[in-house]
Parts: sequence; structure tokens; C-alpha cells
Amino acid sequence: MTQDSALAAGAAPRIGFVSLGCPKALTDSELILTQLSAEGYATSKSFAGADLVIVNTCGFIDDAVKESLDTIGEALAENGRVIVTGCLGAKAGEGGGNLVRQMHPSVLAVTGPHATQEVMDAVHLHVPKPHDPFVDLVPAYGVKLTPRHYAYLKISEGCNHRCSFCIIPSMRGDLVSRPIGDVLNEARALFESGVKELLVISQDTSAYGVDVKYRTGFWDGRPVKTRMTELVDKLGELAEPHGAWVRLHYVYPYPHVDEILPLMAGGRVLPYLDVPFQHSHPDVLRRMKRPASGERNLERLAKWREACPQIVVRSTFIAGFPGETEAEFEHLLDFMREARIDRAGCFAYSPVEGATANALPGALPADVREERRARFMAVAEEVSAAKLLERVGADMQVLVDHAPALGKKGGRGRSYADAPEIDGVVQLLPPLKASKTLKVGEFTRARIVGTQGHDLVGQPL
Ligand code: SF4
Repeated sequence: MTQDSALAAGAAPRIGFVSLGCPKALTDSELILTQLSAEGYATSKSFAGADLVIVNTCGFIDDAVKESLDTIGEALAENGRVIVTGCLGAKAGEGGGNLVRQMHPSVLAVTGPHATQEVMDAVHLHVPKPHDPFVDLVPAYGVKLTPRHYAYLKISEGCNHRCSFCIIPSMRGDLVSRPIGDVLNEARALFESGVKELLVISQDTSAYGVDVKYRTGFWDGRPVKTRMTELVDKLGELAEPHGAWVRLHYVYPYPHVDEILPLMAGGRVLPYLDVPFQHSHPDVLRRMKRPASGERNLERLAKWREACPQIVVRSTFIAGFPGETEAEFEHLLDFMREARIDRAGCFAYSPVEGATANALPGALPADVREERRARFMAVAEEVSAAKLLERVGADMQVLVDHAPALGKKGGRGRSYADAPEIDGVVQLLPPLKASKTLKVGEFTRARIVGTQGHDLVGQPL
């Protein structure tokens, strides 16, 4: 049967969907898929079997742009009816026109990120809504692309900062915080559906509510301020009866972040902070136009560790930023040694089209940028390996991500120190007791018996 005859025969129209990019893009994909499902559309696993394909793109670095453009090309070749959404959709090409339209003029529609309604309007135009939507079949928390036991919760969109290496604000606009009642309702529905780990994301989690002047919202008939501390406290309260974890990403080191340390020390949320420092030298941070760059980060870290000794800090850095001198780079290495960041990632600076940093004087050759990245990572790995070794002998709570045959031959999980996709894991050995099983999405205690690269090795107890 052809696609048109399938539609005429009343079968639910099938939409192919490709989701590229960061967790923020993933939550946009989930919103679109939820809406499609609510309206009765089915999904297709192949381009060829779909009535239309939606590609959610990423436009952050050049590799991501290429991957997105290639995927659109593939979808056009195999299907021909393609809607493009996401960050790349907002990007200008040569002469100021839309880049996606310039490269692939036959796409049906192009939208920027966070544009569920526009995408749905384009879908309706090309593949009309089925007559009898099975609205009740859609779970309250929507459609999730992550495994059932963890989920990302996006609390805001856009960003008020203008870091000179970043073009996200030009693609996603200024900060718009979601109403706190909506965020908490979504969190509750996720926990009730079995989510055991909630990952809070945004471009700048500590800025939550700034755009609405920390307005007092309502949730469950009670007033709650639209503010990070109140949000984190309530998320912890919701997670508790489910024994679930709440993990915070993209937190900038503003003074008010200190308020959530007692919540971490008290077990309300995981003692894990993902703080994108990017650099340590004040002059480099100024050239980067980083938020909270005036804060004394070493002192702040020491204070956090005093308030919550078990805290794990993850961060990302950029080596070889335009104008970075050898002395400034050495400052970064010293910072890394002293700050003892548990999990650090580093990118060699790469000019992103449209970023103002490209116009800064003192661009460094690619081999210098890469060499500095490698030197940084050598120090970061030394710190991380020493920190992992300190855990040997400890008993840790592990959330199981992978356990074939109920874990009889072992499995894989994560402790509070490991966020999915970006950090290490706990390799779980086969349980010693025959009655002990490991199940995906459940917690187990494990005794840490060794390390393996970025991972820990644990014996389930
Ligand atoms: S804080 Fe800076 S790097 Fe992050 S999204 Fe905003 S402008 Fe980009």
C-alpha cells in the first residue's frame, strides 16, 4: 500500500522523527512527540515507512551542523516530505537567508527551537490530523525519549547572558521560566510514572525565575516562589516518597546557590552540582563574558564542601580561547589541581559561526588549542582517578541502568556521582548471593571494590 492509500484507508498517519542535539533539544522532541501522540498520529521507525519526517536539529558546533544537514538530506532522499525544527532551523546562512532552506530548498517547513505549535501547524498542513484522536492513551507526563527510570525536566528556555563563544541566545532567545506550578506538576507525573532520577536542565538553572522577578506562583493551592531554592526544595519533597533522585545541571556559581547546599547535605536532592566554569582566569572569563565570573570560585567550592562534604562537582572548560596566554592557561591548570573538580570535560576552543568571540584578537592555531586541551585533560584525569580511588571500600547506592538476565552476570549502574551519558558508571559484578537480582530502574547497594578508567567497580550487596 502506498502512503497515500494507507492514509485514505484510515490508518493512523505515521510520522518519522529524528532527535539530535542536547538534552534541551530532547525535551523539545518529547513535547512534539507527546502532541503528535495526543492527536492520534503514529510514529514510524523508518524514513521510507513514514508519511512525513520531522528532524529536530542542533546548530551549536560545526560537527553538529553537518550531522543535522546530512540527516535532513537522508530524510529527503528516502522520504521527500521533511519538516525541520530546532536550533539549526534558526540559523542564518550566507547573505542572511535561512541556512536550512539554502542547503535543502525542498523541505516543507523550517522552525527554530522550542516551537511545538509551529511544528504541529506544519504537520497539520501536510498530513491532516486523524479524525478520532486517542487522547486518553497519552500518559500525563507525555512521551519520553529517555529510559523509563530517568527523565529530563526543562525548567526554562533561553538565556539572558551573552557569552562571547555562544550563539544559543540568538537561537533560543532570552530567558523564559516555565511557571513553577507546571514544572512541579510535570515532576509529580514523572515520579508517579516510575521515574527514579529527575535531571533538572535549562541554559542557566540558577537564573530560574529572574525573568518573572521570582513571581509567586501556585501549586497544590499553596503559594510557591518561582525561584531555584524553592523549586529544588519542592522537587526533593516530591521525590522522597518514591525514593527517587533529583540532580541539578547547569548551575552558575551565584551567591544564592549556597542556599541549596543544606538541601544537598540533608539528602533532599543529590549532592551533585554541574557548574560550567569554562575557565579560571578573570581576564579570560571577562573576554568570554561569563556570568558570575567575578565570584571567587575556589573559595566558593571550599565553602560548598564544608557545607556538604560529599558533594561532587562536574564542570566543563574551554582551552585555547582567543588571546589565552600560556600564563592564563597555567592558571587554569592550577585551578583544576586545587579545585579538585570530580568530573571535568574540556573542549579545544572552536569558532562557532556567528559568535562574537571570533572577532577577538589573538586567535590561537588549532594545534595549540588541541595541545592545551590534552594537557588540561591529563590533569583532570589525574584528579578524577585519585577521587575515584578514595571511594574504594565504600558502600554506595547504585541506580541500575543495564542488567541482562536479572543481573546474574553483572550489570551497569550509576551512583549519585554519575549523571547519565556524561559521567562514568559503576560496573556491577555478578551478585555473590544466588537470590540477589539486579533490575533496570531499581536501586541496589554495592561495595566499591576497584576502579576502571573513569568507572568504579562494585559488588552488589
Ligand atoms: S550562559 Fe553563556 S554559554 Fe550558556 S547559554 Fe547563556 S550565553 Fe550560552
